[in-house]
Amino acid sequence: MSSCPVAQRARLQKESKETARIIIVGSGPAGIAAATRLLEHGFRHVRVLEAEDRIGGRINTIPYGDNVIDLGAQWCHGEVGNVVYERVKDLDMVTKSGDFMNTFRFLRSNRELVPQPTANALRTAAENSIPDGPNAYDGSMGDYLTHKYWQEVAKMTDVDRAIASEVFESFKRGECGTEGSDTLFELSGRSHLEFVECKGDLLIHWRNKGYASFLRLLMQAKEDVPGDLGVLNGKVQLSKRVSQINWEGDNDLVLRCWNGELMAADHIICTMSLGVLKEQHCSLFLPSLPEAKVRAIRGLKLGTVDKLFLEFAVQPLPQNWSGVHFLWMEQDLKELRDSKHFWLESVFAIHRFEDQPRMLEGWIIGEHARYMETLQKDEVLEGLMWMLRKFLPFDLPQPKSFLRTQWHSNPHFRGSYSFRSTYTDELQTGPWDLAAPLTNACGKPRLQFAGEASSRTHYSTVHGATETGWREADRLNEYYARGSSAVSRMQPAN
Ligand SMILES: Cc1cc2nc3c(=O)[nH]c(=O)nc-3n(C[C@H](O)[C@H](O)[C@H](O)COP(=O)(O)OP(=O)(O)OC[C@H]3O[C@@H](n4cnc5c(N)ncnc54)[C@H](O)[C@@H]3O)c2cc1C
Repeated sequence: MSSCPVAQRARLQKESKETARIIIVGSGPAGIAAATRLLEHGFRHVRVLEAEDRIGGRINTIPYGDNVIDLGAQWCHGEVGNVVYERVKDLDMVTKSGDFMNTFRFLRSNRELVPQPTANALRTAAENSIPDGPNAYDGSMGDYLTHKYWQEVAKMTDVDRAIASEVFESFKRGECGTEGSDTLFELSGRSHLEFVECKGDLLIHWRNKGYASFLRLLMQAKEDVPGDLGVLNGKVQLSKRVSQINWEGDNDLVLRCWNGELMAADHIICTMSLGVLKEQHCSLFLPSLPEAKVRAIRGLKLGTVDKLFLEFAVQPLPQNWSGVHFLWMEQDLKELRDSKHFWLESVFAIHRFEDQPRMLEGWIIGEHARYMETLQKDEVLEGLMWMLRKFLPFDLPQPKSFLRTQWHSNPHFRGSYSFRSTYTDELQTGPWDLAAPLTNACGKPRLQFAGEASSRTHYSTVHGATETGWREADRLNEYYARGSSAVSRMQPAN
């Protein structure tokens, strides 16, 4: 016998795609993907509420230098099974990375250039030490990698141990940049194996249009019409921070905005970042979220990765250098750690980038990135220039302009991208608990969760976020197409 009360069943029969009121919180890729897919499915009352005064979330393309820069997502990571790439591959919108990663140079803190064959061999040893294959293992990625790397190095002849150690430290910082973790020793090895890397080029870029061109594509927005949101015109409200979501009982869901405005909905899709959920879930949801959801919010992690942009009069790196890895020598590192510049230890690379010939882009991770965000812009520039002049074996002029990101400080993000830690494993939770919808007794999805952190296999990426937006839109479509019984059987798709 159905547990769905008769009165509710009768009401359900009256609900339809034409009448259902859906509010999406957040206009990052997950929110835009959900909204556009719902419209494609024929839903009529779709609204997106966005706390910032712009759409895009952690996709933030701004005019800068000779064209644009991406303060957040920049590359399409991979081709096979990547929904972003699938959408754009035939549209002449993106370019492959070519030789980009192979022409990074390795500089020691005494300005010595490590011979490229040595550097490449050590880097390959480190890359080969990253676990892959189907078998889960407990413990951290850092433990596994360290053990394996030194086994690999032991097989190599004529390798300077100090350089091997410096390259390894630089490699680990780079991996933290990819994963989003502060250190590799908090990163879950098991989850690393569950993340599905899309085969193909991992650094496909968006020419001089930036990642925002993907959002325009989803919305069918015109590039030459400023502020055009295509099919979402009139459906997105900016500067509308949601401060409370009341999902009690089985009546309307009620959202309260920061200015006290109230809105009613039949379904709410939350796409705010894991950082926002961590900080605000206690006050945001009334009643409190169920224990499994809270455990996922607590157990999953959101790391900090920030960018540093330097615009020069002309490109300062030699033509055949695409970027630089910084290798701190032991004594210099000791001195650095005792100085006011200690935070620069976590700047792991700097590189040129496509279609912006006069620009250099640097990356900083973890706790030191969060510290950097608290410094004045001038202090950050002073420190960065000190470091670059310490390493580079040629003169570096003062840049014309400088810009850094502050993803952690922004209360609408509180970090950069998510990962699964060994603590996540300990709590036996994961993206599937975050993704699970909160339904009523008839299986009607009321409160739904999308966003990169809710993706089991593609978390931390735009393609993962996009998939989760589609997942939740499809969940509603399924519900209205087949009725409540089908929905209660649905599992998160990824
Ligand atoms: C520095 C950096 C570099 C990156 N590089 C890449 C890359 O090269 N390739 C890649 O694939 N991915 C990259 N990423 C990750 C990618 O940007 C994210 O995975 C993706 O944008 C997440 O999308 P989302 O929709 O889940 O969340 P978001 O993009 O964070 O969108 C959530 C939205 O919710 C809004 N919001 C929050 N709270 C509220 C509230 N209370 N009320 C209303 N609105 C609210 C936020 O303002 C935001 O707009 C990068 C991220 C960063 C920070």
